[in-house]
Amino acid sequence: MTTTPRERVLTGDTPTGRLHLGHYVGSIENRLRLQEEYECYFLLANMHAFTTRSDKPDDIRADTIEIVKDWLACGIDPERSCVVLQTEVPAIAELTWYFSMLIAFNRVMRNPTLKTEIDAKGLGDHYSFGFPLYAVGQCADILAFRPVHVPVGEDQVAHIEMCREVARKFNHLYCGVDQHTLDEEHHTAGGVFPIPAALVGKVGRLVGTDGKQKMSKSLNNAIFLSDTPKEVKKKINAMYPGQSRNPDEPGIVEINPVFDYADIFIKDTAMVEELKDRYRRGDNLGDGHVKAPVIEAINELLDPIRARRAQYEGKDGNDMVIDIIRAGTKRANAVAEDTLARAKEAMRLGFGDRATFLG
Ligand code: ATP
Ligand code: MG
Repeated sequence: MTTTPRERVLTGDTPTGRLHLGHYVGSIENRLRLQEEYECYFLLANMHAFTTRSDKPDDIRADTIEIVKDWLACGIDPERSCVVLQTEVPAIAELTWYFSMLIAFNRVMRNPTLKTEIDAKGLGDHYSFGFPLYAVGQCADILAFRPVHVPVGEDQVAHIEMCREVARKFNHLYCGVDQHTLDEEHHTAGGVFPIPAALVGKVGRLVGTDGKQKMSKSLNNAIFLSDTPKEVKKKINAMYPGQSRNPDEPGIVEINPVFDYADIFIKDTAMVEELKDRYRRGDNLGDGHVKAPVIEAINELLDPIRARRAQYEGKDGNDMVIDIIRAGTKRANAVAEDTLARAKEAMRLGFGDRATFLG
């Protein structure tokens, strides 16, 4: 009996810190749903972490392991989905080189997500050569797995668009796919790469506790999935509500980021609407009254995640994670090597397989 292979999904996180609520609503919820139906590859982009933290190899290693614990805690199932370590998938590094020749340097530098990151992370003009290269590397991360969907937050959509351009250009240049071919027909027209689609979660851009930037691992404005109830309380209580007012003065819901969290995390929508009405009227509603149910709702979401995470906190936890990384990456390499071989064949570089040259 033959079974039809499942379509693939690829996404990942950079080990620049632990995972936060933005990851959860922006991408992880979608991953949990997709792993039921698709063959999923979740990438630890540890090579990309070096683009901004090359002086912190110990931190990158520790964060790599912590992110896997976060994934497992959220319900990513390593039996079904592959946990993939980028630095042990050589095909990705090779594809990065080939793809870097298919995209103009200025096109990469105009990428709005890169520009925002350079500003937000205060990189000025001192960033490494490898920093903008990561945007091309990400095309390789994705296309190495020839996925149909890429579940990401809103900030990544510009990157996925670049990846789609690279895939189209590759198929056109090396696989004889006509320039006017519809995206969904590239594969059947002989292209090595399908044109993957970004799949943005229910909240594409969760604001950070600073109320300004997107919640980000590296901006000190995040509520981490591994934060304790006390830490969550402290972070929410420290949030600036966008205005200074007394409880009996009318407030503006729209400029108060705590209401963004209320909308997203409190399940009882009627209660949220009532809070908003009272806040707008100045009906004796202090900011602490808005924050309390938000803290409760976030802790309710995080409690089962904390409980599952606890089983990996013990002294064997890291070894369990490393075993999962090894097994997942091995499965991933089978797919990525196959993709690379197809790509090289299309580029007239097929002089023999790996074994021919590695002895
Ligand atoms: P860094 O500060 O190092 O860039 P990050 O917090 O932006 O870290 P990434 O590893 O760059 O996290 O992103 C992983 C995934 O999570 C991406 O798909 C990204 O779009 C999504 N994501 C990150 N932050 C948010 C957010 N605040 N809201 C929604 N999705 C997000
Ligand atoms: Mg980011």
